[in-house]
Amino acid sequence: MEIVGWIGTTLVIIAYYPQIHHLWVEKCAWGISVTTWRIWLVSSLLLLAYCLSRSELLMGSVQICNIAAILMTIILVRRSNHICPYHLAVAEASCSLERP
Ligand SMILES: [Zn+2]
Repeated sequence: MEIVGWIGTTLVIIAYYPQIHHLWVEKCAWGISVTTWRIWLVSSLLLLAYCLSRSELLMGSVQICNIAAILMTIILVRRSNHICPYHLAVAEASCSLERP
């Protein structure tokens, strides 16, 4: 059953890839709430402390992955200075819908 946990951990790592890739390549942070990511960071730190207190290696590993990915995301959002063509088109489409 432990393999299920490690597969889940792998999926956590993979799940962050599209967001981090977009931030890294496009330098576009359109629609990202840093407040939300900061709350997730605090949550992961608390969960890591809980896991360490119970010597839970698997769930502690997940939290370490979360913390690393969340920190990377927050750092990349702060350096973002561009709106990618895809999100610019989305923004322009939503603006044109709001006009009478
Ligand atoms: Zn974008």
